[in-house]
Amino acid sequence: NLSKRLQTIAGQVLPGQRVADIGSDHALLPVYLVQKGVAPAVIAGEVNQGPYQAAVQQVKAAGLSARIEVRKGNGLAVLEPGEADAITIAGMGGSLIVSILTEGLNKLEGVSRLILQPNVGEEAVRRFLVEQGWKLEAEQILEEDGKIYEILTAGRTPVPLEENEKLYKPRSVRGVSLSAERLLAMGPYLIEEGSAVFERKWLMEVEKLGKISRQLEGSELDASRLKRDLLQKEVAEIKEVIRCLP
Ligand code: SAM
Repeated sequence: NLSKRLQTIAGQVLPGQRVADIGSDHALLPVYLVQKGVAPAVIAGEVNQGPYQAAVQQVKAAGLSARIEVRKGNGLAVLEPGEADAITIAGMGGSLIVSILTEGLNKLEGVSRLILQPNVGEEAVRRFLVEQGWKLEAEQILEEDGKIYEILTAGRTPVPLEENEKLYKPRSVRGVSLSAERLLAMGPYLIEEGSAVFERKWLMEVEKLGKISRQLEGSELDASRLKRDLLQKEVAEIKEVIRCLP
């Protein structure tokens, strides 16, 4: 049975889209997409030999070699422009996702949807999207086996940058004013929705940042003091957001 995380990602693919799944590991997502009749064809990209072999085996075992092509290579280098309508990149850090997309910008022509699941560093991914003219269309958050995951879905926008930036315009949500930084870090739709999982994620973050801040206590180094001030400011801001949740 496919994980809830990968099922949720699959649910963001529009029926009929040709998908490229980058960093596919065992090609579980491609196999599911084709078996469910969502994607007519999928390209599974893998840079490492072990996972690449695992993907090849998995696709063969599923009898789907005609529809799923496993390609070995770094990031979007495995793709030709125009080969995919949607790209999924899941289960890695946000900065790695951003560097894969940045190195392969010319491969994104013709791609109409990005479905990204960073394990950490969601902020960097949202920043990339807004800067490159991708409209963040949906955000999902879910918990599975004690871990919390965010899935960001973006579409191509013909709209100008300012229009796209509106998502992150400082504003008040349920009486709490939010900075662009907060919106980028926590997610405009996720804040609006304010789910229990979202609240849990950020309560844990407050806990974690508080701990780091306390470890810096007592240090006379200017750098430590500065860092502690920043952490405390961030904690205060996150707490504000949590306070405004429905
Ligand atoms: N996408 C799957 C998922 O979400 O379950 C697998 C996630 S796995 C933790 C990350 C995979 O990305 C690994 O198999 C790794 O080899 C692959 N990977 C890391 N950097 C990559 C890159 N630059 N290009 C292609 N694959 C990469």
